[in-house]
Amino acid sequence: MPSHVVHRLLASKYLGVSGDVVTEVDRLIDLGTIHDIGRRKPRRLPAYLDIVESGADLKNRYYARLRRVKKELVEICRSDEKVKAFYYHHGLDILSYRLASALMLGLVPEKICSNLVKGTLYDLVGVENNLAK
Ligand SMILES: [Zn+2]
Repeated sequence: MPSHVVHRLLASKYLGVSGDVVTEVDRLIDLGTIHDIGRRKPRRLPAYLDIVESGADLKNRYYARLRRVKKELVEICRSDEKVKAFYYHHGLDILSYRLASALMLGLVPEKICSNLVKGTLYDLVGVENNLAK
């Protein structure tokens, strides 16, 4: 993934979002309760928790984590600037993975630029679907 400096510079330049907002959203996505929050979701609750002694405690921690994730996503959705920074962060991350894959395959990025962007936009639909849940 691109560094937070790159995220901040590009989001400020192209979206006009303040650096402080970008920094806050970048930290939440990469260093918050779940890395890549929005793109990744908490794992499902393991079924074996019903039969292990510490299962109830683990379930409580799991549900507390789910509540924190939901709270973090709701906080982002309350601000247009944060939503822009949020999607921009994920878009840059996804695009960087796609670009790295293309380079490893020996493809010329300039020739597949349109497909890289289309793929990134497609993956962002998944982020949006995760937010809707
Ligand atoms: Zn990231």
